[in-house]
Amino acid sequence: MSGDRGVRHHPVRHEVFQTSLMSALLDGVYEGEMTLAELLGHGNFGIGTFEALDGEMIIIDSVPWRMRVDGTVSRAALEDRTPFATVTNFVPAVGHRITGPTTRAQLHEIIDRLMISTNYLYALRISGDFEWVSTRTVQRQERPWRPMIETTAGEDVVRHERTSGVMVGFRTPLFEQGINVAGCHVHFVDDDRGRGGHVMDFVLDRGLVEVCLGTDLRVALPLTDAFAGADLAPDDLDARVRAAETHE
Ligand SMILES: [Zn+2]
Repeated sequence: MSGDRGVRHHPVRHEVFQTSLMSALLDGVYEGEMTLAELLGHGNFGIGTFEALDGEMIIIDSVPWRMRVDGTVSRAALEDRTPFATVTNFVPAVGHRITGPTTRAQLHEIIDRLMISTNYLYALRISGDFEWVSTRTVQRQERPWRPMIETTAGEDVVRHERTSGVMVGFRTPLFEQGINVAGCHVHFVDDDRGRGGHVMDFVLDRGLVEVCLGTDLRVALPLTDAFAGADLAPDDLDARVRAAETHE
């Protein structure tokens, strides 16, 4: 761990791996070609979802957790499958300690200062005591699968008050919109591994932000009929990503 400019001094190549594309998920490709065992072979840290959109995924220290819409958190099995996930072997090259109440927007500014350029990827780990965290969770879908924009509209946002835990995710460049979610995309789980989900907003009271530079993006495209037949370039792709991920 070094100071604010650690990444600038010694940038090293680092791979970020993902299976499938955000645009495929948006088009209803919820079939999981890849098992978690395979996914974990590419990284010990990351986020994603499960087959049939059955919960939000967070991977911490090689342990995958499944956070369902009913509020339960359970350890996922290695044979469980994912239609979309992003992982890396997290090496915190640079960090910043938070000592007072910090909003999501303020934390984004701090993260921006830790980056050498917005043209690379960054894995993010935000841990500590939160005044509150609001999350939402995708809901398990039944076949025939519908586009994601039709599945997320009714999901409730849950607010967790006075909670300690960890956020895991990525900050990706604008060119990643559709490949992944451009901008910051993080999931949260509390220290008891009892509650969590896809992060909408939060205030961090005290903790640590750690950033890992990603220079090499590797994408494994599913060899499935569903992926082969998906419409990956709808006219309103940007609006679809925003609606699915942020409810904007
Ligand atoms: Zn998410």
